[in-house]
Amino acid sequence: MQITFVGCGDAMGSGGRFNTCFHIAGDAPPFLIDCGATSLVALKRAGIDREAIRTIFVTHFHADHFMGLPFFVLDAQQLLKRKKPLTIVGPEGLSAQFGTAMRAAFQSSATADRGFEIRLEEIAPETPRKVNGVRVTATRVRHGKDANGPFLGYRFEQGGRTLAYTGDTEWTEALIGLGRDADLLICECSFLKPQGRFHLDAETLRQNLPRAGAKRVILTHMGEEVLAERAGIGFETAEDGMTLTL
Ligand SMILES: [Zn+2]
Ligand SMILES: [Zn+2]
Repeated sequence: MQITFVGCGDAMGSGGRFNTCFHIAGDAPPFLIDCGATSLVALKRAGIDREAIRTIFVTHFHADHFMGLPFFVLDAQQLLKRKKPLTIVGPEGLSAQFGTAMRAAFQSSATADRGFEIRLEEIAPETPRKVNGVRVTATRVRHGKDANGPFLGYRFEQGGRTLAYTGDTEWTEALIGLGRDADLLICECSFLKPQGRFHLDAETLRQNLPRAGAKRVILTHMGEEVLAERAGIGFETAEDGMTLTL
């Protein structure tokens, strides 16, 4: 699996980083994990072949993870003249949220005839499945009220390797199972110290994450204070454009 951190920023633009979007290439057709508002710009900057992307897995509907989809679809439709189908996988509520986002962003393209099919697949937590050649299991995490749909983390298996991603979440014991013995766990870390609810912090991760036994951990979604202290934080940290092979 080749992983590119197309964007590894938070919702606040901390460090001038792009919103969350990871590109995964390997045995199966390439896929994205999350597609935040700035992700089309980030994909172009990283020189990613957008037409080859077959599947986009979305963790939740916050704009820094989801609102890149209208731009991605507009580009595919107008510029690339895409023909290949695109599958978007996400939490329960995906169909309604996708329709709302498309209409709010580009009303005419939301209703225009597309040259390609968009398949929307809502995924149930803890139910392993295969989507376009990608083995995936979603796990429910904790990131506030589930008004528009549950919040998910994902675990992907490909070529004998396991990649897990927390999505946005506060600490929950579900992260132990999510990251269990993973070859790589990409873990959000918004803060240095506990800040109440909704997000993870480095102190909580140092205390709890070793129990998951992930072979490698890379922090993402870092707020300004985490970015400032990242050299001594005790974990690897992501950079926009960074690539690695699992
Ligand atoms: Zn976020
Ligand atoms: Zn969020």
